[in-house]
Amino acid sequence: MIKVCKFGGTSMADGTNMRRVADIVASDESRRYVVVSAPGKRFGGDAKITDLLYETYRNVSETGSAGEAFGKVKERFRGITGELGLDFDIDSLLADTEKEILAERSEDFTASRGEYLSARLTAALLGVPFIDAREVVKFDAEGRFDGTRTDALLKEALKGKRRAVVSGFYGEDAFGKVKTFSRGGSDISGAIVARAAGADLYENWTDVSGFLACDPRIVPNPQQIRALSYKELRELSYMGANVLHSESIFPVREADIPIRIKNTFRPQDEGTDILPASKYSYGGRTVTGIAGKKNFTVIFIEKSLMNAEIGFTHRVLSVLLKYGISFEHMPSGIDTMSFVIDSEQLKNGNLEALCAEIREAVSPDHLRVYDDIALIAVVGHGMSRNIGTSARLFQAIARAGVNVRMIDQGSSELNIIVGVDCENYDRTLCAVYDEFFRE
Ligand code: ADP
Ligand code: ASP
Ligand code: MG
Repeated sequence: MIKVCKFGGTSMADGTNMRRVADIVASDESRRYVVVSAPGKRFGGDAKITDLLYETYRNVSETGSAGEAFGKVKERFRGITGELGLDFDIDSLLADTEKEILAERSEDFTASRGEYLSARLTAALLGVPFIDAREVVKFDAEGRFDGTRTDALLKEALKGKRRAVVSGFYGEDAFGKVKTFSRGGSDISGAIVARAAGADLYENWTDVSGFLACDPRIVPNPQQIRALSYKELRELSYMGANVLHSESIFPVREADIPIRIKNTFRPQDEGTDILPASKYSYGGRTVTGIAGKKNFTVIFIEKSLMNAEIGFTHRVLSVLLKYGISFEHMPSGIDTMSFVIDSEQLKNGNLEALCAEIREAVSPDHLRVYDDIALIAVVGHGMSRNIGTSARLFQAIARAGVNVRMIDQGSSELNIIVGVDCENYDRTLCAVYDEFFRE
């Protein structure tokens, strides 16, 4: 049995927590390979090392010096080393790191140093070899993760090592430069190592005892999900349930490796299993979980006989491509089409320019923009098996007095996405949760 364990930011936040990590690893012989995040928050209002490093990069690019933010990074790492009583020359390592940050002048390189330093310390604490993700996690010339190359290099690096610590969150691009995944990306690193190690289980250790059926910051005491499928996880995490990065399933999916979410602070709790289709049974429930995100803009286009106008969609999509804009959903009717876009992408005049070009490209009868839209995803394989699910969903939303602005249901019937005004987000989430989970 081989397990790969990834420990998140809270688990690495200070010396006491890192000792818990060491105990968890030592308590099970099969916990062979460890992937770590940078230290996260120790308490509400504290700073995450990764955020301090992004600030460091801004200082470097604006003033040429690493500034106060890097001073805080150094203080945190010195503190952790002291708490652990490690015989480790952290001062030299921090001084070298600062020099490299100033020389590299790269945002990704700077941000990656949190994971680099925390993995170096964890390896020293566990007394096992350190593997630098830069040597083994590779991206191609287009900046895409290169799974084949990474797998071969990692297999080689793990060969003959009974245990090892690998830094999370980053790798190296085709030009020899450090490149990070998106935020929360150490979850992906853990999955990559699990695949290369041929693991039987990928344990993802965090600060909650599993995946909850809804965001606990909005719905009080939501139920815990005991097991969900890779596909359900992807839908829920993509839509904001960010316990686990939504891209974490790809590396493990090819090898059918289950993921288990575990709580570093309550290791005895069962946790949540995320399973490949072959090992998953939906267990009769209708809805597995609910997630959502705010701040979307809907661009609604209407034109009579749009359906008969060959190339209409193509022309609209070409405009989006020109502006480098990706969209989340594209609900459409016979003569209508809408694009749901993360509002962040439409800032600084982008929205106005985009709409003007769409008007020019396809001469719509109407083009309307709705902003401040929130999306709520109701996810579960069971929805397709239970007649009346949509009726229950929309009745619950109507009873809460909320107007539905958009509906999108994938043909897989794995999820139904509902758009509401941002101001109704919390109310809708609670109403939908109550309908399906407080039966
Ligand atoms: P880590 O630093 O260990 O990677 P994250 O902060 O990335 O941890 O993810 C864990 C956090 O995800 C929890 O503390 C919780 O606040 C948040 N979260 C959001 N949605 C959910 C959910 N549906 N179930 C459980 N936790 C959730
Ligand atoms: N430290 C990185 C972040 O804060 C990656 C991670 O923790 O997964 O996003
Ligand atoms: Mg995380």
